[in-house]
Amino acid sequence: MIKVSINLTRIIFLGIFILIITKGAMVMWLGIFGVTLLLALLLGRVFCGWICPMNTVMIPTEWLSKKLNLQAKEAPGWLKSKSIPWIMLIVMISAMTILKRIFGIEIPILLILLILSVIVTLRYKPEVFHNNICPFGLLQSFTGRFALFTEQVNHDKCIGCKMCESVCPSEAVIVSKQNKKANINSLLCHQCFNCQLICPENAISYGKKKN
Ligand code: SF4
Ligand code: SF4
Repeated sequence: MIKVSINLTRIIFLGIFILIITKGAMVMWLGIFGVTLLLALLLGRVFCGWICPMNTVMIPTEWLSKKLNLQAKEAPGWLKSKSIPWIMLIVMISAMTILKRIFGIEIPILLILLILSVIVTLRYKPEVFHNNICPFGLLQSFTGRFALFTEQVNHDKCIGCKMCESVCPSEAVIVSKQNKKANINSLLCHQCFNCQLICPENAISYGKKKN
């Protein structure tokens, strides 16, 4: 049921995104993003997991990429640079402000990001775009890390099977080599429920952060 609700929400917001973009009202979408940025303080990065059109198109793209055997095992080193999302953010803000105000040029930055997310995900795992490229993800991580409610693991139940790791699109859940228990990083977590739904021990649940 939760999976259906999440997918339905994704499709609805993808429709809203397409409508907003075709009407040329990018500011409206940035307004939605701004609200979710604050919401992340309470609920975590639900924008990334439930609302973001990039994430929504990346899910079938990843499936297709695996079917066609296009996925590389590892992303190249330069693509793991922590500075890329910052560069993307600066380019995005510059494109939206300086170019528009001085030269009157309006670049369809959201559309460009959407296409980029598809291209990158055809070749690399989704966490490459989510964690190493997306400027919106960078901003969401600032507030998401303080999320009051988030996915978390009950260590008494966790058996360290790593199934959660295999379905996480953002490398937010890692099973410790030392104690073989999973831990979720709310800074990276999209609150997508993939891990919770696959965990064979029902060790993962969404709730008030314990520490
Ligand atoms: S899927 Fe569940 S039991 Fe397996 S490592 Fe993750 S939290 Fe632990
Ligand atoms: S930790 Fe779980 S809820 Fe968070 S992004 Fe990964 S799979 Fe989704």
